[in-house]
Amino acid sequence: MAETFQERLEQVQARMAAACARAGRKPDEVQLIAVSKTYGPERVREATECGLRLFGENKVQEAEAKVPMCPGNISWHLVGHLQSNKAGRAVALFDQIHSVDSLKLLQRLEAAAAAEGKRLPVLLEINVSGEGSKFGLRPNAAPEVLQHAGALEYAQIAGLMTMPPFTPEAERARTHFRRLRELRDEWSAQFGVPLLELSMGMSHDFEVAIEEGATWIRVGTALFGERS
Ligand SMILES: *Cc1c(COP(=O)(O)O)cnc(C)c1O
Repeated sequence: MAETFQERLEQVQARMAAACARAGRKPDEVQLIAVSKTYGPERVREATECGLRLFGENKVQEAEAKVPMCPGNISWHLVGHLQSNKAGRAVALFDQIHSVDSLKLLQRLEAAAAAEGKRLPVLLEINVSGEGSKFGLRPNAAPEVLQHAGALEYAQIAGLMTMPPFTPEAERARTHFRRLRELRDEWSAQFGVPLLELSMGMSHDFEVAIEEGATWIRVGTALFGERS
């Protein structure tokens, strides 16, 4: 692995550019979220000095300790599971939530965002295959949540997120990423919600995700190094 953050970032950006070129997509259609979980504020600062502004965390408690010690112009995304009882704390910290997996959580986020007068884009996390991660809505449970999209004023469903079952072979994630895009197309039409964003792809499989339509990729290890 390259030694400096700047070198690792350039490698990730080159992989992103190559995947966009293969897929005939414009590079600015895909945004990189640097997943800084387990890394301290000094590593986040170093990443901001290389020009990054979008960061992902997977735990409210870790973010509560870290965010105040990081540069102020960061946009923080919650990418990990969120319990409904922490919705208020999450809204106070994060600009976007990628992991909404129940109607109850969505309604708690709406209430918390309304109390802060804060517009909050959220994504529905879909467990496409029903295996792998124990989090995420089964595809057949998502329509009930999407039916409520029109009634929300502050929390806005901007798209879908998925975490395929882990496999070292990136190609095996392709069917999951493709299925998420197909579900997006179906549900956008059926519920009249645009669902523009697709959050999918991590360090080892983001090229495949980009080829299948990702608009946000969530990358930790390839930028920061292996987590201990
Ligand atoms: C940790 C994490 C990532 C990044 O994983 P890497 O393999 O380190 O790139 C992406 N998404 C979620 C939800 C995560 O928890």
